[in-house]
Amino acid sequence: MQELTRIEISKSALEHNIKAFKQHIGDDVILAPAVKANAYGHGLVGAAQVFLDAGADYLCVNAPFEAKVLREAGIKAPILIIGYTPLADLTEMIDLDVELLVYNLETLEKIVEIGKEVKVHLKIETGNNRQGILYEDLPQFIDLIKNNDFITLNGVSTHFANIEDTEDQEYARYQLENFNKAITLIEEQGLSPKFKHCANSAATMILPEAHFNFVRTGVSNYGMWPSAETQRSMNGIDEGFTLKPAMTWKTTVAQVKQVKKGEKIGYGCTYEMPEDGQIAILPVGYYDNYSRLHSNNGAALINGKRAPIAGRICMNIMMVNVTGIDVSLEDEAILLGKQGDEEITAEEIAEWTQTINYEVTTRINERIPRIFI
Ligand SMILES: *Cc1c(COP(=O)(O)O)cnc(C)c1O
Repeated sequence: MQELTRIEISKSALEHNIKAFKQHIGDDVILAPAVKANAYGHGLVGAAQVFLDAGADYLCVNAPFEAKVLREAGIKAPILIIGYTPLADLTEMIDLDVELLVYNLETLEKIVEIGKEVKVHLKIETGNNRQGILYEDLPQFIDLIKNNDFITLNGVSTHFANIEDTEDQEYARYQLENFNKAITLIEEQGLSPKFKHCANSAATMILPEAHFNFVRTGVSNYGMWPSAETQRSMNGIDEGFTLKPAMTWKTTVAQVKQVKKGEKIGYGCTYEMPEDGQIAILPVGYYDNYSRLHSNNGAALINGKRAPIAGRICMNIMMVNVTGIDVSLEDEAILLGKQGDEEITAEEIAEWTQTINYEVTTRINERIPRIFI
């Protein structure tokens, strides 16, 4: 069956981004790309495979099901779960040789009870107040690990709260201080974690002291900047560092229709034709997670030209004004990506609805095929 709507992922763009990071961090630092959330919408297994082929050392996933999908796809690389692993799934993950992030005593106690060889990473609370172990609670975790030889402390980690939203890294440095304090305590107590990690894409780019020996890059593996602030900061640090967006969201014109000036388009009659012209019907809607907030708010590309969205986004259908554009049935339309000299970026789509590029690509319905080219 022909796919009306598909997402093409450029392997060479993904490779470019991984190589840019590898070059930036050097050979002694592990590159552990995050492939959570269906690889930020790019396709979990496909993206993971390209990253590993391009030189990534590890993979970070959010949840056990993602680790399982990767193992079932034959991926043997080390995998770290950075979200929550339910107590009931710990045995299965250990048997799949998946590394576990620990920040609850209950989790560690269950791991002790299971009694199998396992690699864990402790997550330290340093100022984000998301997951993490409080400094004063650390000794209990340290004791349990020290008293059970089958548990290897493979890493100590934390996560920044305020790095991409600002060009002032004071808060990140405050968290880094707390992180270093926790590492000192752990090492003084006789444990020697192999990896220390806290850097996401932004920190990997702009805060070299946050690299330690392991980085967890996310959004920028896919060619997107964490924010305009990060991009500005990075320009001052390394102008040669470039990213290539990997995703193109394509669909197919399902009808071309002549419409007279003043005629209404779509539900609620919210769009009125400004002149005699034509509209194109595209078979994409909010089911695909093309947001209904894009009603009369945005554009698609057809034959290299911008066609403004006309009327409300429907469940499976949207309309664009193609007056003055040469359009035929089944022409290709681009919702995200390049066509000719025109481009619609995830950042631009994010601006239409006051969100972030992360959300734009991540939300796209998983049912739409991701084709790696
Ligand atoms: C998602 C995530 C990352 C990657 O973040 P980016 O901003 O996408 O680079 C790193 N670490 C943790 C804990 C995460 O949840």
